[in-house]
Amino acid sequence: MATRLAPTISPDTEFFWNGLRDHKLLIQRCSGCGTLRNPPRPMCPNCRSLDWEAIESSGRGTVYSYVMPHEPRFPFFDYPYIVVLVQLAEGVRLVSNLCEIDPADVTVGMPIEVFYQAFDGDLVLHQFRPAAE
Ligand code: ZN
Repeated sequence: MATRLAPTISPDTEFFWNGLRDHKLLIQRCSGCGTLRNPPRPMCPNCRSLDWEAIESSGRGTVYSYVMPHEPRFPFFDYPYIVVLVQLAEGVRLVSNLCEIDPADVTVGMPIEVFYQAFDGDLVLHQFRPAAE
């Protein structure tokens, strides 16, 4: 059994997953108006441009919200685990896991930072942990 459920990768999101293998958290930026967007998609919701580039995030942000899923239980997760909505310093949000913290200690607004975790089969995922001082 795989150690982790792999993401669905499409032509629109491939750059993001490839970036993780290089330990880079990439964000889509519209080439027309400069607006950042996540999750990746073909068209800018601001100016409707189809042209875009990727910028590298600092990997720093804060907890915008979080949940702790309980059911259904997956064999590849250790429970409890935290699904976090990250408010990145660049201004966009993304979903990840928050690790290296007791769930009772998580607070909205706390500073967190990305790290990268490799799994079987060429999969690298972005994970977050409390930011170092
Ligand atoms: Zn735009």
